[in-house]
Amino acid sequence: MTNPMQQILIVGAGHAGFQCAASLRQEGFDGHIVLIGDEACLPYQRPPLSKAYLLGTSAAADLLFRPARFYEDHRVRPCRRVPSRSTARRSASRCNRESLCLTTTW
Ligand SMILES: Cc1cc2nc3c(=O)[nH]c(=O)nc-3n(C[C@H](O)[C@H](O)[C@H](O)COP(=O)(O)OP(=O)(O)OC[C@H]3O[C@@H](n4cnc5c(N)ncnc54)[C@H](O)[C@@H]3O)c2cc1C
Repeated sequence: MTNPMQQILIVGAGHAGFQCAASLRQEGFDGHIVLIGDEACLPYQRPPLSKAYLLGTSAAADLLFRPARFYEDHRVRPCRRVPSRSTARRSASRCNRESLCLTTTW
C-alpha cells in the first residue's frame, strides 16, 4: 500500500486546486497527486466565461489552465467525482489529514 504521505488528494479542481497541484510539483513533491473536481473536463478558468468566451472570441480549449499533456508530464491524475471503485475513492480511503487538501470553495 502506498504511504499516505506519498500521496496528496486535492478535492476541488478550480484555480486553487490546480495551482496546489502545480506548485507541489514545482516545489519538488514527488508522490502521487490526485485532483478531483466535479466537472467533466480538465481544470479551467472561470473569469473568461463572462468575458471573452461569452463574446465568442475565446474557444473552450483556451479556458484550460493547462492542456492534457501537462497532467501526464507532471503526473497529476485529474478525476471527476466518481463512484466507489474509482482511483479517487481508493485514494481517499488511504488519506490522512496531512495529505488531503480541500479547495472546493464551499
Ligand atoms: C463566470 C465567472 C466570472 C468570474 N470573473 C472573475 C473576475 O473577473 N475576476 C476575479 O477575480 N474572479 C472572477 N471569478 C471568480 C473566480 O473564478 C473564483 O474566485 C475562482 O474560480 C475561485 O477558485 P477556487 O479554486 O477557489 O474555486 P472554484 O473555481 O469554485 O473551484 C471549486 C472546485 O471544487 C469542485 N468541487 C466542489 N464541490 C465538490 C465535491 N463535492 N466533490 C468534488 N469536487 C467538488 C468544483 O467542481 C471545482 O472544481 C469569476 C467566476 C465566475 C464563475
